[in-house]
Amino acid sequence: MSTAQHPSAAGLAPATVVVSAGRPARAQGGHINPSVPLNSTYVSRGVVTPDELSYARGDNDAWHPFEEALAALEGGAAEAGAGGAAAPATAILFSSGMAAVAAAFSLVPDGGTLVLPRHAYQAGLVLARQISERHGVTLRYVDIADTDAVVAALDGADLLLVESPTNPMLEVADLPAVLGAARAAGVRSVVDNTFATPLGQRPLEHGADVVLHSVTKYLAGHSDVVLGALVTRDAALAATLREHRTLHGAIAGPFETWLALRGLRTLALRFERAQASAAELARRLAEHPEVAEVRHPSLPGDPGHERAKAQMNGFGAIIGVRPRPRPGAGDAEAAGTGPAAVERADAVVDAVRLWLPATSLGGVESMLERRRRWGTEAHTVPEDLLRLSVGIEDVEDLWRDLDAALRA
Ligand code: PLP
Repeated sequence: MSTAQHPSAAGLAPATVVVSAGRPARAQGGHINPSVPLNSTYVSRGVVTPDELSYARGDNDAWHPFEEALAALEGGAAEAGAGGAAAPATAILFSSGMAAVAAAFSLVPDGGTLVLPRHAYQAGLVLARQISERHGVTLRYVDIADTDAVVAALDGADLLLVESPTNPMLEVADLPAVLGAARAAGVRSVVDNTFATPLGQRPLEHGADVVLHSVTKYLAGHSDVVLGALVTRDAALAATLREHRTLHGAIAGPFETWLALRGLRTLALRFERAQASAAELARRLAEHPEVAEVRHPSLPGDPGHERAKAQMNGFGAIIGVRPRPRPGAGDAEAAGTGPAAVERADAVVDAVRLWLPATSLGGVESMLERRRRWGTEAHTVPEDLLRLSVGIEDVEDLWRDLDAALRA
């Protein structure tokens, strides 16, 4: 994967930014890594201004190095954007990706309208339903890959949530088209960029108002912390989202934040390796006699392939796989539903030895799970769909394990 295609903030490539951003100022004998400051409060007197540290729920210097690095990665070239310099991006760290989702959803007023993908991270969909019931918010579900449907749903809406590629169906939205349409319609947009990472795509450059991350996944990268973040160039929006964080209190701990920055330092290497292995595994899976269907945007026949090629740098490292039903299975199994299809997919999960049977994604270790084991997963996701998160192990070891599990 070439990162040179996306020069970043100070003209540096993202692979450099992940290493160099968020370091302490250079001083003789000074630290090269940020410390872990442990403070619940700061020395402060007189009228409090938003720019000074006063209480560690409102702002916390433990967050600044990571926030600075993520803002530089998502903000990209300072001169990006039509008609001159774009405002610098601001990142706002949260205690989890879901805390970031909750803050983003708070932008929809009571009685308002939220346009959202029918396939998206399941807990986000559950939260949207709760907000709808409690606050009279209308939910308009769309196939996020169907640009006409998305544009039609924007009429009178307050917020558009985009995932691309979607979790777990790997549908690819036409980002410039849907984000441009949202902007033209006066509808705010939030893009969950967890699957692609800022190395794979930068939605702010396609017109998104806000980018969302489960930092838990690729950015931190080692399956050892839960964190989330929002990034925006809009100063007023940043102030609103920060206020939400302060008042709802879903703040990141200093140790977790430090771990996330440490993980971020190797994002370019990890993601490059994982993407390359995912493309190779997807190619082999597509030819495997025990596989009924593979979804990965790298595959030339995948519905998202052309779009991903145009707007992404690489194709991501998540694969969707449906095992072939046993001979003699009925129509339901062929369509990925029914007890036999579920049993067949569960058998693959039980048979792997190297891949970890676990939820989550984006860690150095490869994981897989049958997504519909979550009762809250969208019911249009096939019951036998396995979501594979490809890590950074040797690709031949990953293949041998997967191949054996499929044949078991
Ligand atoms: N967005 C996506 C695409 C996710 O996959 C997840 C979690 O799996 C989240 C958001 C929520 O993040 P977290 O688990 O850090 O709260």
